[in-house]
Amino acid sequence: MKKKVYFFDMDGVLFDSMPHHAQAWEEVMSRYGLHFTARDCYLQEGRTGQSVIDECMLRERGRHATDEEVNAIYNEKSARFHELGGAAPVTGVKDLLDYLKQQGALIFIVTGSGQQTLFDTLQTHFPGIFTRERMITAHDVTHGKPDPEPYLKAFARAKAMMTPNVITPVDCCVIENAPLGTRAGHDAGFDVYAVNTGPLDDEDLWAEHPTKVFGNMTELLTFLKQQS
Ligand code: MG
Repeated sequence: MKKKVYFFDMDGVLFDSMPHHAQAWEEVMSRYGLHFTARDCYLQEGRTGQSVIDECMLRERGRHATDEEVNAIYNEKSARFHELGGAAPVTGVKDLLDYLKQQGALIFIVTGSGQQTLFDTLQTHFPGIFTRERMITAHDVTHGKPDPEPYLKAFARAKAMMTPNVITPVDCCVIENAPLGTRAGHDAGFDVYAVNTGPLDDEDLWAEHPTKVFGNMTELLTFLKQQS
């Protein structure tokens, strides 16, 4: 069935930013004596920065991170990420977004990112696709992914926007690239179309119960065009 509402994750779905995130996390965690690999980064993707740091501290030191540690590590990681430069859009995602817009779909971003410049970056690369009202970021949620809260918030907002037309969960879908984001979308009750844009195995995604797994954005676009 054709979907009316699309909830897009950002890193690894809109932007090919995961290699920079992985490098920045690995470097900064090691400054603090914390072992955190690029694979850890991909497996943890979707969590807020605070949660990534806290999980790592629990695993490595057996205790929670302090607020000071979270702030220091997160600020250094953000600075390093920005030093590495802007990431290009994921191949094929512009065509996908243009197609969905032309179809009259409602397009949201649901991200664990809290970057202040996020909206400007989106406008530069995808002009006219996103609005501030259709963005759920780290600032909008108490529990980031893998909790379903970000996707449930997006659904509530979409429902309010579509009034008086009623939308139900079956009208919505999630576009994700990460295992934990897939779990969040699935637990929120939506179809999840996972696109494996990174180095993990498809099985890492299938383990979190997506509806389908695609190898790239073009495969997803072809699939969506076949829905009626
Ligand atoms: Mg992602």
